[in-house]
Amino acid sequence: MTQTRPNNPNDQLWAEKILYIYWIMVLMAFAGQVIGLITTIIYFPDYVMEFILKRLLLPTAIQIFILLTAHYVIKVKRVYSPKLIMFTGTIAAFVTVASHPTVPGLQIIFLLAMAVILIFFDKKKLRFSLYINIIALTSLYLFPSVRSSASEYEYFSYLFVLWAGYRVYLIVLERGSEVLDFLQRATDKEKELIVKSAMMERLSKIDALTNLYNHKTFHEYLDFLHEQSVSYDMPLQLALIDIDDFKLINDQFGHSNGDVVLKRVAQGLTDKLTENDVVARYGGEEFAVLLTNKSIEQALETMEEVRLYIAHQYHEELDGNITVSIGLKNLDKSMSKEALFKEADELLYSAKRNGKNQVMYDGKKESHVKML
Ligand code: GH3
Ligand code: MG
Ligand code: MG
Repeated sequence: MTQTRPNNPNDQLWAEKILYIYWIMVLMAFAGQVIGLITTIIYFPDYVMEFILKRLLLPTAIQIFILLTAHYVIKVKRVYSPKLIMFTGTIAAFVTVASHPTVPGLQIIFLLAMAVILIFFDKKKLRFSLYINIIALTSLYLFPSVRSSASEYEYFSYLFVLWAGYRVYLIVLERGSEVLDFLQRATDKEKELIVKSAMMERLSKIDALTNLYNHKTFHEYLDFLHEQSVSYDMPLQLALIDIDDFKLINDQFGHSNGDVVLKRVAQGLTDKLTENDVVARYGGEEFAVLLTNKSIEQALETMEEVRLYIAHQYHEELDGNITVSIGLKNLDKSMSKEALFKEADELLYSAKRNGKNQVMYDGKKESHVKML
């Protein structure tokens, strides 16, 4: 008998449920035998001892022994095996029928032993169960006590019932597989849709060239962070970054080289900023950064580092470097987001007017860091 460790806690659960059904089967058989005993006491008093031994105690003891063994293996040893369950059911059925050879129709119980196997949802296991139930049925008819009270027709009709039952169960399994297949396909489709919609959502948020947030997403973040900062008195700064003389670069080196440079600058921004900062391509060669969790001094330092980092990036397409100008504005409590943006924009333009390649903060050039 092959036994496998349970790989699914449900296997154990189902094995225990089946065992429970087997116990009920044994209990019912015992109840039937007790009724038989009462009849024997009334009508065949001489036969009582033999009945108690052969019909009541012996079969019940065998069945209890089989079930206790299965119980021990499944519940205590926590070993789960479909074959163990199959054999337990068929042997229990066999003992029930063998101990009551004269009860008509009891052989149908093999059909129940086979039905239990349906829970495994496995055609091979069902076929295996058919075989062992046929063997059990056939060996029953080899018993002289059964043979004397039954004809071959009866055996063949039970054989046919088993086979027909098997075919019906097979159809049930096929229908079940069809439903499962359908469900599987529906689930796959649903998963596909979830992935697709996640991708679509990402695409609608991200700028395709630079992989930074796009204009629309930037404004969503600005709305949200502005509200948060005003409500909870949390620091927020806005930096607007514009590449210096980018038109000249495009004119001199071509638009596609310009694109490569744009991408590299965007990467530079991502390298230098953290997850506390929202980095977006605002449009064209302009970027916007929302800095959170920083004092204005830290924000200034960060943007100055960004400026220097970009100024040091070498672009082989241009055989040189480029620079950026930055306008940085700290959010005052009473400031609207429009005012924050407008002031950062004005600071950016005064950085441009003031000679480019610099961070301008509140009308002052950030000059504590050496300019390139
Ligand atoms: P300034 O220092 O004053 O900012 O000068 P500038 O030349 O950078 O400013 P201007 O606004 O005159 O030019 C911006 C240029 O950026 C114009 C446009 O060709 C270029 N540009 C905008 N978007 C893209 C893009 O997606 N790819 C490329 N290659 N160039 C772009
Ligand atoms: Mg510009
Ligand atoms: Mg520019």
